[in-house]
Parts: sequence; structure tokens; C-alpha cells
Amino acid sequence: MQDNNTIHTLSSATINQIAAGEVVQRPASVVKELTENSIDAGATQIDIVVQDAGRTFIKVIDNGKGMSAEDSVKAFERHATSKINDAQDLFSLRTMGFRGEALASIAAVSRVEMFTKRESDELGSHVEINGGELALQEFTTCKNGTQIIVKDIFYNIPVRRKFLKKNETELRNILNVFQQVALVYPSIGFTFSHNGSVLFNLKKENFRQRIASVCGEKTGKELLSIDVDTVLAHISGFVSTPASAVKKQPSQYFFVNGRYIQHPYFAKAVAMGYDKILPQDSKPQFFLYFDIEPDKIDVNIHPTKTEVKFEDEQLLFPIIVSAVKEALASSCSMPSLMFDQEDKIEIPVSVNDYDNLKQPPVTHNTSYNPFSLHQQVSTGGSAKRSVEGWESLYSSSKPTEGKEPVPQYETSEEPLIKSKPAFNGFTFDGKYIVCATEKGLMIINAYRASVRVLYDKLSNMIKSGKSVGQSVMFPEVIEFNQLDNTTFKSLKSSFEAVGYKFEPFGQTAWQIAAVPSVVSDSEAIEIIKDLTADSDGTSVEDVLRESILVRLAEKGASKSKSLTMEMASELVESLFSTKMPAYTPQGNAVYYVIDSETIKNKIG
Ligand code: ADP
Ligand code: MG
Repeated sequence: MQDNNTIHTLSSATINQIAAGEVVQRPASVVKELTENSIDAGATQIDIVVQDAGRTFIKVIDNGKGMSAEDSVKAFERHATSKINDAQDLFSLRTMGFRGEALASIAAVSRVEMFTKRESDELGSHVEINGGELALQEFTTCKNGTQIIVKDIFYNIPVRRKFLKKNETELRNILNVFQQVALVYPSIGFTFSHNGSVLFNLKKENFRQRIASVCGEKTGKELLSIDVDTVLAHISGFVSTPASAVKKQPSQYFFVNGRYIQHPYFAKAVAMGYDKILPQDSKPQFFLYFDIEPDKIDVNIHPTKTEVKFEDEQLLFPIIVSAVKEALASSCSMPSLMFDQEDKIEIPVSVNDYDNLKQPPVTHNTSYNPFSLHQQVSTGGSAKRSVEGWESLYSSSKPTEGKEPVPQYETSEEPLIKSKPAFNGFTFDGKYIVCATEKGLMIINAYRASVRVLYDKLSNMIKSGKSVGQSVMFPEVIEFNQLDNTTFKSLKSSFEAVGYKFEPFGQTAWQIAAVPSVVSDSEAIEIIKDLTADSDGTSVEDVLRESILVRLAEKGASKSKSLTMEMASELVESLFSTKMPAYTPQGNAVYYVIDSETIKNKIG
């Protein structure tokens, strides 16, 4: 009789195959699941052997706790797990696997062979499963731990097998997975070989060393560590120095409770932490590890579990930004300026002391000639009498207080006062400051240095809520067309945050009551016009504020036309008390150091 019913029950083999599709998408998924099981089993050494990008053969050997003979069969049953008991456990789990379907899924779509033995057992268990059907179980002698071999993946599902990508791609996927795991467990030794050649041989090591072993020595060398503890999460790990950012394929890793995740939103936070100091088109590298209460994240939103939803994402964002900033700031390998620290420079007390000065036999010119600006002063006790000539370049100078450059002189043993170390350098070409540092000869672009200093000053003012505006004597009115006026309204609060004040003045015009004090009224207005014209009105507030700050800093910095020694000295001091002296907020280098080594090589 013909069966008119259309509903029938699928065979368990079919169910397993369908379910397997979710867990086992490609050979890399097998490597991931097997490796994670080995880690959960407490292994301290894991060896992975792959052939043909996993198409024909994947073997994972561990020295973990092994399984009893009974468990060695049970482990392949769907929903067999030793790790959870009820649904609640799903949310409080810290182990790797958590659904008890990895082995069942893998076995459903391949030929699996396993040897496993617990330390307490005399004999181990040997199991063979083909397409999900148990083919063999026997006792055997084998090492403690577990060895699983997965052959001919998708042999029984030709469609899936056909969809495997070319070997390079599948191998790359496997290696990605391998690296993601290896980076979290530096205390576990790993080997990885493909078609007979060893691609990784990782000994037990620390995090920094593991990153170097996995991602390369160069990356490993340029890491700045991060460690912040908040009630929301503990965040630790490393970010790359700006100099070691890369153009292509940056290593960017987030891990949550020992598991690699992708998190574009947090990646944005890291990028923001770099505060535009990266060279153009370069991307930072990072390795950030989150430790968080499992009930504050939802790992189950994605079947392959690389996407994780955090309950407190919005709150964690600024924490990440500032953690990165802090790490970079501490690194900004601030070369300490070579002040004469031990013998504090002493300068004459009163103007009267000038009477005692011997006029040098040179006449000075009024341009920025370092020789004419320099003055020799006695440094007391251990100090030698200064001699004229090249050595005077390395002596200290007394600020000229914006007056005429003071000619060289020598002091007599007059009453002296202690003062703070004097600036040890000179200006060059009206726009550079040259000074000696521990690392070598530093040349500072004075304009860029001013931009950095002003930018930091402005942003600190904003942070502290201090108004940076000053009222305008003759308030100007700025008029927009309809479109620009709409844009302007969306920017208005950002302008106000940096010190502007506006009064409505008719439909599309505004009277400017106050402007940031670092720029002139007309410059302030120019900035409004420029940024309004440039903006499409969609920028995020933070980004916008930053671009306003950058513009203000640039305008403000360009005001200073001439560079006196006093300004240079002050500027250098302010520059090195900013958090990021090496770069302008736009990412341009502020200074260049000719290191002592190079100088020695060239001229002995
Ligand atoms: P899950 O890892 O989610 O529990 P799996 O299907 O991956 O599910 O594994 C099933 C069970 O098999 C695990 O819970 C564990 O008890 C056991 N198992 C799997 N791999 C190993 C291994 N390498 N060493 C010891 N036990 C293992
Ligand atoms: Mg598992």
C-alpha cells in the first residue's frame, strides 16, 4: 500500500550529520574541538599532526587525564559530556567545549579512531567509529592520555567534501585556530606538523614569549603590557608600540575566559586608544585577555562561538581606550634630556653680577645662533672652567627672558643660587630645537611640539570641565545656509565643549559670544566654518571633539612665529610632560633622534 504520509522520522545517522554541520564546518573545526578537549583534560603537551590540510588526516595527541573504557565509547554519543549537568551550567562554564556534541559530530562525518588511557588504569581503550557507527572497541596498551585520529572528513557527505576550499585556505584556517589556542595557553607545550614538516614547536613559556613564538620575534619585542582590574572584568595582555603597527594582516586577538573571540566594537576601542598616532594605513597589533564572570557574557550567540556578547560592552569600551592610552604613554620611550643633574646649575643672583662678566671677544648677531645664545656659567665645586669653542654647545644656558641674546660670559666666584637644571640645547633654522639626550642628538620640530602640547592642554581642560573659552569683545555673527545650519546644530555641543559660546541670531545665524582662548577670534570663526563645511553631520561626538581640538591646537601653535631660547626650553619641558610626546595628535613625528651609535659610526 502506498504511504501517503509525508512526515517521517529521520534516522539518527542523518540527524547526527545535520547537527554535525553546525559544529564541523571544516577541518579547522575538528582541530579546534579536539585541541580544546585536550586542554579541558588537563594536558600539558599537545601534538597535532595534519595531512592535506586536514582533508585526509588529523591527529591530536595529549597527555591529559584520559578516559575509562566505558567513557571512551560514551564520549561519542550525542550530548555526552562530563562538563555540564543542566542548562544552568551553560551560563557558568569556564571550560572550552560545553555542548557535548563535538565528538559525536566529528564521528558522524568521518572515520575516527581513538586510543585513551587514564593513569590509574592498566590498559587503555581503542575505539573505532565510522560515520557515527561504532566499529570496534578493545582494550589495548597505550600511553596515558588521549590520541584521536580523524580521517577522511566528510567522506560520507560528498556535497560537504566538495565545498572544502583549496588546501592553502583550509590549512590557513587550521593554523588560525591553532594560533588562537596556543596564544591562550603558553604553559602548554604544542607541536604542529603538516605533511611531515614541523610548523610549530612551542615549549612551555610565558605570554610574551608565546606571542613571539607564534607571531614572530619582531611583534613579540614591541609589546606594551596592559593590566587593568575593574569590577566588570580583568583585562590583561599586550598592545603593539605605534612603531610596530603593520599595514597588512595585523595580529589582533581578543580572548575571553581563555577563548578567542572576535569583537569589532572593542577593536574600535583599541584603535581609539592609539589616538591617531599610528602611521597612515597602519593597524595596531594586540593581544587582550578578558577575565569575566561567565554570567556577564553570552557565548552562545554564534554556533562557532567566536562572537561573544558582553553585558557591559558600553562600560568596557572607555576602559579599553584608556588602558591602551596608558600603555602607550608609559612606553613613549621618553629619552631623558641630558640635564646636568648632579651638579645643579647655578646662575648669578642679580643683574649686578653682569658687571663681573668678561665680555667675550666675539660679537653676536640677532638671529638664532646657538653660539651667541650660550652662556658659560660656573657649576660650582666639580665644575671645570668653561672653554670657548665647540664644548660651549653642550653647556647650559640661562633663559634670555625674551630680551636680546646675552653674549657669552664667564662668571667669577660670586654668590650663586641653586636653580633647576637649565635647558641644554639650541634652536636651529628658527623652527627646530636641538638638544642632547641620553640616546643621542634630538631634533625637535617646534611647531609640532607646540601642537602636541596645546592639544594635551586643551583636552585636559575639557576633561577637568574647566572652561577654555573667553568672551569675544565684539561678537560676530556667523550665517549659514539651511543645510550647513543643520550640520552646525549637530556640531554645536561639541564646539561648546571646547569653549565656544553661541547665541541664536535669527533663523540660520548665530552670534559668537565666546571662543577658545588659544586662538584668535577670527581663527575661531574660521574653524567653525571649515569644520561645518567638512562635516556630513554624522560623526560621533568624541571623534568630532577631537578634530576640533586638533584644529585648535594647530592654529594656536602656528601663532608663535619666532622661537626664543626661553620658549624652546619651556616647550621641551612641556612636550615631555605630555603623555605622547613622540607624535602629534595627527600622527606626525615630533622629533628625530640621531642616536649616539650612528654618530660614533660616522665620525668616531
Ligand atoms: P564536550 O567537550 O562539550 O563535553 P565533546 O564531544 O567534545 O563534548 O567531548 C565529550 C566528552 O568526552 C568530554 O566531556 C570529555 O569527558 C571526554 N573527552 C573528549 N576528549 C577528551 C580528551 N582528549 N581527554 C579526556 N577526555 C576527553
Ligand atoms: Mg569538547
